[in-house]
Amino acid sequence: MMPIVVTDDYSIQNVLKIMGISYQSVLTRGIENVVGWIKICKGCKKKYSSNNSLTECEICGSPIYRKRIKKME
Ligand SMILES: [Zn+2]
Repeated sequence: MMPIVVTDDYSIQNVLKIMGISYQSVLTRGIENVVGWIKICKGCKKKYSSNNSLTECEICGSPIYRKRIKKME
């Protein structure tokens, strides 16, 4: 498997293209890394699994909202 260079520098991307090396921009990679959801309490900010069926926080009773998370955070 060929290594893929990750860069947003267009001049480097041009050089890589000429040399026949695969590259990927950081921006594209960032979008791919968004993998799931987490639930967070509006009151005390406690984090719940997105699988959790609770709609209110078990600690403070505030509503829980869903938030997108990235894999590497
Ligand atoms: Zn809470």
